[in-house]
Amino acid sequence: TDIAIRRALLSVSDKTGVVDLARILAERGVELVSTGGTAKALREAGLSVKDVSDLTGFPEMMDGRVKTLHPMVHGGLLAVRDDAAHAAAMEEHGIGAIDLVVVNLYPFEATVAKGAARDEVIENIDIGGPSMVRSAAKNHAYVAIVTDPADYALLEKGSTTLDERRRLAAKAFAATAAYDSAIAQWFAFADQGERFPATLPLTLKRGQTLRYGENPHQQGAFYAAAGTGATGIGQARQLQGKELSYNNLNDADAALELVAEFRDAAPSCVIVKHANPCGVATADSLEAAYAEAFACDTVSAFGGIIAVNRPLDGATARAITQIFTEVVVAPDADEEALALFAAKKNLRLLLTGALPDPRRAGLTAKSILGGWLVQDRDGGMLTDDMLKVVTKRQPTAQELADCRFAWTVAKHVKSNAIVYAKDGATAGIGAGQMNRLESARIAAWKAKDAADKAGWGQPRTIGSAVASDAFFPFADGLMAAVEAGATAVIQPGGSIRDDEVIAAADAAGLAMVFTGIRHFRH
Ligand code: 5GP
Repeated sequence: TDIAIRRALLSVSDKTGVVDLARILAERGVELVSTGGTAKALREAGLSVKDVSDLTGFPEMMDGRVKTLHPMVHGGLLAVRDDAAHAAAMEEHGIGAIDLVVVNLYPFEATVAKGAARDEVIENIDIGGPSMVRSAAKNHAYVAIVTDPADYALLEKGSTTLDERRRLAAKAFAATAAYDSAIAQWFAFADQGERFPATLPLTLKRGQTLRYGENPHQQGAFYAAAGTGATGIGQARQLQGKELSYNNLNDADAALELVAEFRDAAPSCVIVKHANPCGVATADSLEAAYAEAFACDTVSAFGGIIAVNRPLDGATARAITQIFTEVVVAPDADEEALALFAAKKNLRLLLTGALPDPRRAGLTAKSILGGWLVQDRDGGMLTDDMLKVVTKRQPTAQELADCRFAWTVAKHVKSNAIVYAKDGATAGIGAGQMNRLESARIAAWKAKDAADKAGWGQPRTIGSAVASDAFFPFADGLMAAVEAGATAVIQPGGSIRDDEVIAAADAAGLAMVFTGIRHFRH
């Protein structure tokens, strides 16, 4: 099952390492056949090469669209060597066997990424290359197909084993599948402007393997969505700390998405646990924002994921390192902060560069048994014209500011979400309950607990604004907020009992605004 390489066909767009490989093959007496550009590169290095056009008896033509699409090539790749009829066909037509194909394809994704015009994009759809890859991979019983320069070293021994050829074939089909999927993706989204095509072409490329999955008995890996141009937490630079786990990335993503809402705001800090924020604040300095976010829920903050919207400075880093933190996410960090973190070996520090645009388009997906639920990402942003005051009392400027802040945070809290906020900081967060009333109560209870711990005398929910991610179906949730001391409410509205809820708000002297949109998140 070992096959000695006697004749090799080399046709590569990315010429990295190909001359060295060809030299080694030539020294082993392998006959080299190549297409135009590759043959030229090899000849310039002093190697003797046969042109594919000599093999086929046809010149390369039509701007290179037709080079290797010929029975002299594909017969040599596809023939079953020990099948008598195949052997006879080779004999009859003078087709020589090809034992090795080294191909990498026209740079389609790179051409799209650089913003090339449509014609150039189309011209960079490789046809002959993938055909050879597929022919050779199908016939891996006899032919080795190498699509990745990282595998060149494997060929230096001048022969391949069946195991190697199988592994190479698997890799080759994955490469052509990803290549075609990138093309289909471009056609569907960029060229045709489709949003939910009949078949969703996705190219997912493995990034980091993870420490483990959601639980240690599960394994996991991160796959990057290629060709979308989007970069997020999976592409962040990890400067220190243990390998990331599935939960680390999931939580850090939640933290990054929320802090990105504040990318044009004052210094802001987000602390996340189990994909929900447990404290969020904006302040005059990052250090103060961290302190305020931390004070919201000092119990949950332990082992949390912290994200900030400014480069980390020494003072903030010093404050963060006072307790155990799993991950810190920041656009950047200064020398002093880096030195302080370096002393905390277990802390994972992720630098993202500029924060993503919270308004950007894109898809999110969630797996369910037997499929995936795919939707637009929640890019809903609150603008002034959306806000409708529905109570007799108008909110004060401060109440309105706190309403907006609470609303932004609530967008990133798992439903049912209730968020109390005061002076640009969360006072209490109720997440993930099966009814809204309980989220309102839990958030209030947590606010009281935080006040007791901090010795504030009274919880920050007194005089706060409260946000609800979806409408209050009954007045009871609203009344829980009144009991907690909220004076302003922001919610979508739209319940059949809105009148009841508005009447209760008026009776309690609240100011309430409707947004007209909701932010379920599960
Ligand atoms: P070269 O630089 O050697 O002239 O061309 C190498 C590239 O041509 C490789 O990326 C290979 O996949 C591609 N290629 C080889 N044969 C054909 C063909 O028949 N048609 C097209 N469109 N591309 C080919």
